[in-house]
Amino acid sequence: MSEGRLSAQEPMASELETRLRKQHETQRYRTRVNLNACSGTECVVDGRKLINFCSNDYLGLKQDSRVISAFTEAAQQWGVGSGASHLISGHTAVHHKLEERIAAWTGRERALVFSTGYMANLGVISALCDRSTSIIEDKLVHASLLDAAKLSNAKLLRFKHNDVKHLQTLLEKNSREKVFIAVDGVFSMDGDLCPAKEIAELAQKKSAQFMIDDAHGLGCLGEKGFGICDLLRLGQNQVPILMGTLGKALGTFGAFVAGSEALIESLIQFARSYIYTTALPPAVAAATEQSIRICQQENWRRDRLNQLIEFFKSEANARELNLLPSNTAIQPLLMENESSALKISQALKLKGFWVVAVRPPTVPENSSRLRITLSTLHTEQQITELLDSIYSSLK
Ligand SMILES: *Cc1c(COP(=O)(O)O)cnc(C)c1O
Repeated sequence: MSEGRLSAQEPMASELETRLRKQHETQRYRTRVNLNACSGTECVVDGRKLINFCSNDYLGLKQDSRVISAFTEAAQQWGVGSGASHLISGHTAVHHKLEERIAAWTGRERALVFSTGYMANLGVISALCDRSTSIIEDKLVHASLLDAAKLSNAKLLRFKHNDVKHLQTLLEKNSREKVFIAVDGVFSMDGDLCPAKEIAELAQKKSAQFMIDDAHGLGCLGEKGFGICDLLRLGQNQVPILMGTLGKALGTFGAFVAGSEALIESLIQFARSYIYTTALPPAVAAATEQSIRICQQENWRRDRLNQLIEFFKSEANARELNLLPSNTAIQPLLMENESSALKISQALKLKGFWVVAVRPPTVPENSSRLRITLSTLHTEQQITELLDSIYSSLK
């Protein structure tokens, strides 16, 4: 690189350095951890064995031998990549079979598989909303739903977390032609559920579109395990747009949107993040199909997870820890500030536990937390030892 070009880049370099320095100063600098190995809830990081309490592999399916076999067999048959986008030549019989299984499982007319959950949210909202739409989202929805709203050019309004009255007020004040309501089924940083039934009723009354992003409920909630709509028995009429991710409880990768024939056909026509990207690898689709089958058949995985959630909560309460009100696998522990969250997370690492410190802007100001997640594969002993370590680190 010539000296002239180097100096031309200096203003940018110094601007970036200033921003990075600020990130450090506010205790918000983000770093990645290199995993050296991973088996169930045990990982090796920097040569140290850690019990992982921050994975979204809630049902322990990520390394299930049947899921791995489905993946490798399909890779032998189809190769690693899909070779093209879905509308060109990347859509295989394996994808089709997966979509049929998802539709049947969730009780929806059809389903469409996306390459990631982030892209599914961008695709749905930008395809269905425009300048004539008011999008109304919960204050704590996932970042991808906010980005989707921005991309759509609609007007974005947000209601106080899980506050149906506030949502109603916003609906009554709305002046735009179309309304689109979007919420998380299980809030990713808090672990609580949205009041889906009440919102569904409001949406129907006001002829608003209603979408649930159930990234963290899918696999974990309900008798059949298909998430919050299973738990609360909400069909396609009540929740017309159901989105779920495959990289969490199902242990693979990707996402889907399920709903009416017209919804799915519209997404195929208009969802740019579906159209202009390479299709999910067929092997991932095959692995996911297997994973859903296990999820449907092995209720003990959810039962066991629920047992561990109950155990965790009662043991944490016995130690008077500052838990948020959650009955799901996401159990956040509020910390005083960014630096105490980091400090405790670091102290836990030295004791053999991996718990991530979540700080703003991922969570609101003054709500830094340890986001503890539980898995079917954890043991009571691991949980007791974790809580003892947290208790002694806080003193
Ligand atoms: C993880 C997550 C996403 C994004 O899904 P990816 O498949 O990881 O892109 C979207 N919404 C919520 C609520 C999530 O937790």
